[in-house]
Amino acid sequence: MTNRHNRARTGSALIKAKLHVTINLMILTAQRLIQKAGKHLGLTKDEIDYILKIDHEHVFDITLDDGRVHRAYRIQHNNSRGPYKGGIRFHPGVDINEVRALSILMSLKTAAVGLPLGGGKGGVSVDPRTLSEADLEKLARAYVKHLHPHIGPDIDIPAPDVNINSQIIDWMVDEYEAMTGDTSKASFTGKSIENKGSQGREAATGRGGMIAIGEYLQLVGKNPKEMTFAIQGVGNVGYFFAKLAETELGARIVAVSDSQRTLAVKDYQNNSTYLSLEGIKERRKGLIDDMASSHAEFLDRDDVLGLDVDVLVLAALGDTVVKGNVSNVKAPVILELANGPVDEDALKVLDKKNQVVIPDIVANAGGVIVSHLEWLQNKANETWDEEKVNSQLKDYMVSAIRSVYEYSQNHRIPMKEAALALAMQRLLESRKES
Ligand code: NAD
Repeated sequence: MTNRHNRARTGSALIKAKLHVTINLMILTAQRLIQKAGKHLGLTKDEIDYILKIDHEHVFDITLDDGRVHRAYRIQHNNSRGPYKGGIRFHPGVDINEVRALSILMSLKTAAVGLPLGGGKGGVSVDPRTLSEADLEKLARAYVKHLHPHIGPDIDIPAPDVNINSQIIDWMVDEYEAMTGDTSKASFTGKSIENKGSQGREAATGRGGMIAIGEYLQLVGKNPKEMTFAIQGVGNVGYFFAKLAETELGARIVAVSDSQRTLAVKDYQNNSTYLSLEGIKERRKGLIDDMASSHAEFLDRDDVLGLDVDVLVLAALGDTVVKGNVSNVKAPVILELANGPVDEDALKVLDKKNQVVIPDIVANAGGVIVSHLEWLQNKANETWDEEKVNSQLKDYMVSAIRSVYEYSQNHRIPMKEAALALAMQRLLESRKES
């Protein structure tokens, strides 16, 4: 074997080892957060065990025509509040502990925002970039062929997650119909509009985040029009958030970043210039270049985190604010739109300095809320216009932020812990009722 091959092998072994550590950390973090909030609530061991308990684990292999075998998962965590609900991801880093942790977080998310749904998650360990479109379709169909007895409109309703788009979901729905004869389309959400998907789904997570920060600022008597915002990550979530925060809240966005760099308004504290997304119709690669102007400058990628703004929005990845960089963060309010962008150590530091973190399980729940609305439309064989969808999304988000804020004020705990505590209480209440 050549040196080049040796290096490649070592590199991939390292990546695998790192992923394994991250994934195991994820399940540990989920367990620790639940145990911590459980202690605060005075829960018994039996109650905490109930919250952590996973109902069903479906693990199977999918073999494609070229002989490659891909391990597939569907983890159904808890359905005491309603059918299991959660995305499916196609990613080489998917493993059972990651899917378990994400399924628990889904049950907490649906409970935290008051949806009558449970939590689940699915995935296939595969790099979809290595598949032809025909193989991608085969993989999607094989996943459903295996799982169809365990999913369905009143059992478990999967949705898209990493590397899954509406086309892949449409193939899955088609396969589910062929297997079961159920043509309601309510077996999956995230379908294309032509296949009974919902209006408003694409922008839902960003819109939900915009509603969350708008409501929080109103509760604490602040006016978003007088505030500066910096956004880490302008992908699907960050793009719609930024656009809607600008147009609907009147927020002044002074910096955005992507995986390469930050773009910030020069001397943003001493003038009223901002980066406008209003005229930009589509999210795409190079979006940041479209926003560049003579009033703005490029900075290093992570400089976005240390800017002296009123609100820092984290819409890129998990664990971007960690022990090593949390002391740079100056914003008094941090909105978590990615899943777990502030790690446990960083949270402790921010809490001590009274920097408020608006928690992911509520702030980024817009997607699952609109998924729920899609499912309701399919079950009733109705099609709602975007206005109706957005108005119901707003009702859920406003009510969730108010309850979490109130709980955190009444119990003098950070909003992150308050959201978890509320969700856990709701899971335990539905356990008693079931
Ligand atoms: P996306 O892939 O469309 O966008 C991610 C963006 O982050 C890209 O612009 C990328 O350039 C940028 N990015 C990557 N690494 C970065 C870094 N180190 N610094 C700054 N920017 C970086 O993904 P998305 O759908 O917008 O999701 C963003 C996050 O929100 C993810 O963590 C996702 O799990 C979470 N989330 C998404 C949804 C949804 O509905 N899409 C729902 C809930 C949570």
